[in-house]
Amino acid sequence: MANQEDDFKKVISHAKEYGYVFQSSEIYDGLSAVYDYGQNGAELKKNIREYWWKAMVQLNDNIVGLDAAIFMHPTTWKASGHTDAFNDPLIDNKDSKKRYRADVLVEDYVGKLDAKIEKEVVKAKKRFGEKFNKQEFMTTNAKVLEYQERGKAILKRLGQSLGKENLADVKALIEELEIACPMSGSRNWTDVKQFNLMFGTKLGASAENSTDLFLRPETAQGIFVNFLNVQKSGRMKIPFGIAQTGKAFRNEIVARQFIFRMREFEQMEMQFFIQPGTQMEWYEIWKERRMKWHLSLGMGAENYRFHDHEKLAHYADAAADIEFRFPFGFKELEGIHSRTDFDLGNHEKYSGKKLQYFDHETNKNYVPYVLETSIGLDRMFLAVFSNALQEETLENGTTRTVLKLPAVLAPNKVAILPLVKKDGLPELAQKLVDDLKWDFNVTYDEKDAVGRRYRRQDANGTPFCVTVDHQSLEDGTVTLRHRDTMAQERMDMSAVADAVAKEVDMREWLKRI
Ligand code: ATP
Repeated sequence: MANQEDDFKKVISHAKEYGYVFQSSEIYDGLSAVYDYGQNGAELKKNIREYWWKAMVQLNDNIVGLDAAIFMHPTTWKASGHTDAFNDPLIDNKDSKKRYRADVLVEDYVGKLDAKIEKEVVKAKKRFGEKFNKQEFMTTNAKVLEYQERGKAILKRLGQSLGKENLADVKALIEELEIACPMSGSRNWTDVKQFNLMFGTKLGASAENSTDLFLRPETAQGIFVNFLNVQKSGRMKIPFGIAQTGKAFRNEIVARQFIFRMREFEQMEMQFFIQPGTQMEWYEIWKERRMKWHLSLGMGAENYRFHDHEKLAHYADAAADIEFRFPFGFKELEGIHSRTDFDLGNHEKYSGKKLQYFDHETNKNYVPYVLETSIGLDRMFLAVFSNALQEETLENGTTRTVLKLPAVLAPNKVAILPLVKKDGLPELAQKLVDDLKWDFNVTYDEKDAVGRRYRRQDANGTPFCVTVDHQSLEDGTVTLRHRDTMAQERMDMSAVADAVAKEVDMREWLKRI
């Protein structure tokens, strides 16, 4: 546990030191759970967004984009269920005065059971060596089965109690499991209460005429209310999708996990409109497609898993998360939800306008069903960044800190380094910068010994360094160094652009999907 915490602290301080993520309004001591992205963070975030957008919109001829406003008519949130049901169950510890999400306390307890299972697996792996069969072990070992059963039973009860709004039972569960406050160690809890997560604001100049508005808590509703606009103007045929990226706002009860849980964050959502009755087929298809998108980035299949929901949101008839191994354990990164006709149906009811699709083949109108994929851009950023940050011990016994970002996402693709700051090397290096900057983000660095500059670029996540030396003046060749392997190759200056492009080209990465 201490190790996990240390790793996470390193991630946060590295993100700050290298211009990726800053606390918002830091000079005023910050604003809780709100963050700003620095010069490198803004690029990484943009690249992740683009990687998603290309995979979703550009490469699918039946998915189109949208950019809806953050402010929406307040009735939207009545129709969507957010006014009444977008609540989290909160509980306070009377001794530490700390506030928690009751469901998260229980889920963390189950997370500890998962950690115990992992420990058993590691132990057994050692014991059985080569012969170890994880699948068999997981389905036959008595201890593992017991932990699994317990975890399942606990989550089932939590889901049922929350579903029935039986908050007293959620408290009873916390008490039965003897869950203590992580801060004070005390089990002196208040009752569980519901808390609405939407931020309110006002539209209009004078108090009498103003309208109460909400900052959108999800981008999805902008898609639903525009369903017919897009379908008609784009002459879209079902099945088709609308994709959108944009800010969402939630007044989260507990927000202590850096950019994992923020009060202002960005979502990348896609709503896929389908024929009623086909939702389970599409649910499986989108689960698989989205997992493939993640795996294309090469961050390790063992770091992902599906988690099927026991507790379904008010709009869903099936839901699964893609979980990622964050520095604090496996947690939700993306949600795939079968939302039925809940949203469109309710918008019809509340607006009095028909939101139906006319199927020319069957000559029938119907309200489409919806399959949604929803991922937090900031959470994806944290997954990519934390997974990339590594301490390596080199052959000579020294260590290096390296940020092994997938090259396609790295903020800077190449750093140009003149070996020394004289003899015309900076000028030649600058020429290379001027040539490459049309295609890539390029940085130039001439300060300190070249070894230190390599380390700096490693820590910055730059996949390539190009060193310009005296030989370059004579024969026009330079040294290209690869961040991950530290291998160096000599090549003509004119070959650098192609060598870099081969590794960072989005096309090559997206082809793996
Ligand atoms: P959680 O259970 O972690 O609160 P959720 O199930 O409420 O998440 P959804 O409503 O399904 O999340 O939102 C879709 C995605 O948006 C999530 O998978 C996550 O990546 C992202 N997301 C949700 N809330 C936040 C937040 N407060 N900060 C950053 N990202 C978020």
